[in-house]
Formats: sequence, structure tokens, C-alpha cells
Amino acid sequence: MSEPLSRFGRQWLVMKFGGSSVSSAQRWTTIAEQAGRGIKSGRHVLIVVSALTGVTDLLTGLADESRQSGRKGILDEIAIRHRRLMQDLALGSCPEFEDRWQELAALNLENQFPLNAASRAGLLAYGELLSSALGKRVLQQFELPVVLQDARHCLHAAVQGVHNPLTVRCLDHADPALEEQLADQSQLHITQGFIVSGPDGETCLLGRGGSDTSAALFAARLQAVALEIWTDVPGMFTADPRVVPDARLLNNLGYREAQELASMGAKVLHPPSIQPARRHRIPVYIKDTQRPEFAGTCISSEDREAQAQVKGVVSRAGVTLISMENPAMWHQAGFLADAFTVFKQHGFSVDLISTSESTVTVSLDPESAENSDGARFDAFIEELTHLCRVELRRDCVSISLVGNSIRTILGKLSGALDVFQDRQVHLVTQSANDLNLTLVVDAEHADSLVRKLHQLLIVSHSGSRAEFGPSWIELNRPVDKAVKRIAWWETHANALIEFMGGRESAYVYHPESMRSAARQLQSLSSVNRVLYAVKANDHERVLRLMAQEGLGFDCVSLAELEHVQSVVPELSPEKILFTPNFAPREEYEAGFAKGARITVDNSWILNQWPSVFKGKDIFLRLDLDSGH
Ligand code: ADP
Ligand code: ASP
Ligand code: MG
Repeated sequence: MSEPLSRFGRQWLVMKFGGSSVSSAQRWTTIAEQAGRGIKSGRHVLIVVSALTGVTDLLTGLADESRQSGRKGILDEIAIRHRRLMQDLALGSCPEFEDRWQELAALNLENQFPLNAASRAGLLAYGELLSSALGKRVLQQFELPVVLQDARHCLHAAVQGVHNPLTVRCLDHADPALEEQLADQSQLHITQGFIVSGPDGETCLLGRGGSDTSAALFAARLQAVALEIWTDVPGMFTADPRVVPDARLLNNLGYREAQELASMGAKVLHPPSIQPARRHRIPVYIKDTQRPEFAGTCISSEDREAQAQVKGVVSRAGVTLISMENPAMWHQAGFLADAFTVFKQHGFSVDLISTSESTVTVSLDPESAENSDGARFDAFIEELTHLCRVELRRDCVSISLVGNSIRTILGKLSGALDVFQDRQVHLVTQSANDLNLTLVVDAEHADSLVRKLHQLLIVSHSGSRAEFGPSWIELNRPVDKAVKRIAWWETHANALIEFMGGRESAYVYHPESMRSAARQLQSLSSVNRVLYAVKANDHERVLRLMAQEGLGFDCVSLAELEHVQSVVPELSPEKILFTPNFAPREEYEAGFAKGARITVDNSWILNQWPSVFKGKDIFLRLDLDSGH
């Protein structure tokens, strides 16, 4: 079935490759192969890349480092990682990469460190600017017609007023002008994830892990037929496979469930990446760059979302809880409005919330918390204390059970919730969209609780249900590389050559191999009788060997039957099965007389010669296909 053309009359495929995918020479070969596959099939391809593994973290360290010597060490480390990869790829010169490197070196000298948010965004962008420049060169080396695009010329932050340049959002509408502009230039493009431009053309970021979202935004703008997220796991699993090795691959997911899993902790997708795909009905495939042959996860329709069931047990670390207590809040209108105004003014968004008469406990949206500095946070808490008593609890972990219509299966979950006995649960919420039940606990217990819940709610119930694929362990089991067996003719080569003498050809049999084959067949526990088909080779030594190994014989003519009996006279006749076709009456009579078992494969002979078969045991052969 061919795919429909997009609204723009061309089929765009957007592929995003994450940090680990762009950090090794071998995986770049896969990237080039996948890009080549895309353009060969007539599509237009846009590749979105992340920074090399660990580089955004190093740049964050650089932004925080006030000592010049400390910064030099970090820059050296970033250089080593890129140069080593370039060496492995035998890239030679790469002018666009060198230009970016010079710019980064200049930023290091010109700025006041530690950096403010705006300069920090500009600096962190260099991870993706360097990897995409390098990537362009690699793809050229594979002779692909690639053009390097600056994502900041294509994606623009949708912000008004005060905003955090480290976590902006963009509009995800279709963009015919961009589509035409790219299509005019080439069939293959590479660009940076993570970075977009702000209202004044300055560099802004989509938040940590934001390259997925860049790819989804491009897919929406170009009206792509598919978005592929290439990473280091072969799909989205029912739990983080690195924590829960029993986690099962989710073959298919609806957008809503995928959104919920990602938002509640399935780090494989940046949560804001799903909305653009969902809005434009673009299927999202999660694929493993190291194992491109695996189907991965397909996120598409909402169809499969009808059934209520737990699809995942996911967790998020680094959760900050804020409890606000004010005895006067009971029956008092406006307390929450006042409190949340403080959140708004300081740029902190609320994630989970639970309320009682006098206390409201909320968790901070991890992204807004992550992208704030200590001073800003202190000022925020200070202002809250004017309204109520504030209690902070940091470094908690939220554990979420995610699945459709979770409210309808609370009864089924109750047994599993016993695992929280003796554990302090700081907050419980049931999401308004009916997709998750979340509990916040101390970090030290989190992984073991996730494993236990996963065992009780998924492993014990998933069985062979179609939406659950193989487990992480199964996918990683080393493929049985059959021990290379040395064939007997290799070890007997000299004897064989000698044996052949002047002969042109011969059939040669090796008794030991036949013996071993006979034994293997006899060892099958589900087969209780093994017969050798005499028509395969009626050589007397072959027949004797098979008899010694305890096999019976299948004969299709009276002559074969007599031959077996003369070669192996001691053979018990009932070990012979005589299966003649259209034989005369005398052959059946002779078969019975010799004590063999006889196969009857048509009713005609029973009707014609009833006396031959009267009182005899027969072996009945039924042809189920034609009903005889
Ligand atoms: P990339 O650098 O390619 O964007 P990420 O590190 O952002 O990759 O995401 C992939 C990681 O997400 C995996 O290595 C895995 O440990 C983690 N992960 C967490 N939860 C899940 C889940 N439910 N399914 C799959 N991966 C998950
Ligand atoms: N390089 C960025 C990060 O590490 C974006 C990404 O990889 O998605 O957060
Ligand atoms: Mg990621």
C-alpha cells in the first residue's frame, strides 16, 4: 500500500537521531543508510540531530564555571569527543565544524561567567551546531546530496512578554513556504534539534531532551508522512528498561497514552513532541539506531485506547514538593488564586496537586524547576511564605501507573498498591484526564517500588496480549550463534580424495553422521516411533545401521519389504510398516502373511476385499485435505 502524499504533494520523512546515535562512527553508517533508503523511495528527508552524548551536560558545566582554567578543561573534553569521532569516521577537513568551533571558543572568552539564561541558551546550542556540521560532512562522504539548515531560521518561539529562553514553545502549524524552500534546495537536509530562534532572532532552547520536539515541529511544518525517533532503545517500554529488565516493548500506542507515559517519566520521548504529531495525525516511530531491523514502537491513532489497562509504570526523579498550609484557607475563596499568582510571577509551573481543608501540596513541573537558578527559587519561596506556612521536600520521585480509564480499574490496582505499605507516600493524585494514578515517594525506595508494581500489574497480566511485545531481556538475549559444526567431509577430506581415485562422482555416506541423526530423532520426546523410509536408500549397510539404532522401516512395495527382511532377518516384522498404493490384493495378503503392519489409504479396498482385512489391525491414513 503506498502512502498518501502530504498536503504539499511531496512525502517528507523526518528522522531524529539522539545523542548516542550520533556519537559513534558505526551508527553514522546506519544514519546514512536510513537517509539513503528514504530518498531512494522518493521521499524528501530531514534529519534532526542532537548533540553528541554528554556534550550538553558539558556545556552546562561550562556555563556555570567561573574559572577560566576550569572552562579550558571542559572545552578540551568537548573537543576530544568530537575529534575522536571525526577520526573514527576518517572525515578529514570539515570547515563548517571548524567555524562553529571558533565561535564557541570566542564565546568562552567574551562572556561573563557564570552565564545568564539568554547567554546560556546561546552557548548550549553549540552541542547541536557542532554535531550537525559534522553530520553534514559524514553524509557527504556517503555521497548523499545533503544540505545543512540552521534550525533557528525555520523554527520560531511563540512567546509574549517575559519568557525563559531555555524552555520555549513553538507553534506547530503547517508551513508551505518552508516546505517549498527546502524542497527546492535538495531531497535531503540535516539540521539541529533543541534550538530555535526567539522573538528578536536570539537563540532559544526547547528544554533538555528537546530535540524530539524539534523533529516533531519540523514534521508538522513540513506535513511529514512519518516522524522517526532513533535512539538507544528499540521503542517505548512498559517501564524504563534500564531499571526494569522485564519491561515489555509497547508495539503500538495511541497519542494520548504515549503523551502520558512521556510526561510522567518515559524519557525516551520529550513530552511536548507528541502534540504536533497528534494534531497533524503524523505517525511516530521509535527505533533503535543500533538495531534498525527492529520494528520499534508505532504511535498513531487513538483506536486502541478503548480498553482500560495499565500500559506502563513510569517514574520521574528530582521532584520537588511544596506544601502550603493555612488553617484559614478552609471555606475561604481565593487562597489558591493568590498562591498560584506567586507561582506565575516567578515562572514556576505546577505539575501534581492534592488538597485538603488546610493544606495544598503541589509538585513543581520538573522542567520549570530544572531551568531555574537557586536565587530565583529562594525568592519565590520567600514570597509564598507571606501567604502560608511552606514546607519543602526535595529529591522525591513520582511513580505513575499509566493507562486508559485508570479510574475504572482502581479495584484491580488496589492489591498492587500494598507495595506502598510501610513506605511514606507524600502525595497521591489521580489525573483529571483519567490516564494516570501517581504517588510521590522518597527517592531511595523508588526503583524497587517500580519493579514490584511492574511485576504485579504488567508482567503477571500481559501474557501474550498483542500490544505488549517482547521484554527488554528477550530483545537483548544473545542470538544463538549455532556452534559452527565441522562437517564430516572436512575432517575426512584426504580419505575422500583418495577414495575417489579416478572416479568422476560418487554418493558417499558417513555412518557416524547417520547414527547421530537417528539418535537425535529417537530422542524427540513427542514422537514415539521413528521409521526409516527405505526408498531413501536401500543399501544394506544403511538398513542394518538403522535397525541397530532401533528404527523401524517404511516400505512402499512388496519388493522393499522382502529386501528389508532379507538384509535384517532378525527384525521384528511389526517394525515394518507396509504402505502400498493401488497394489493388487495379493500384495496386501503377502504383507499380512509376513507379519508387517499395513496402511490402508482408501475405503475401496476395504469394500472390495473385506475378507483380507477382517479382524486385522490396520494403520489408517486419512487425507484431511480432500476428505478421503
Ligand atoms: P536520546 O539521546 O536518543 O534522545 P534519551 O536518553 O533521551 O535518548 O532516551 C532514551 C532512554 O530513555 C533510554 O535509554 C531509556 O533508558 C530511557 N527510558 C526511560 N523510560 C523509558 C521507557 N518507558 N521506554 C523506553 N525508554 C525509556
Ligand atoms: N542535546 C539536548 C539535551 O541533551 C537535546 C537533546 O538531546 O534532545 O538535552
Ligand atoms: Mg532524548
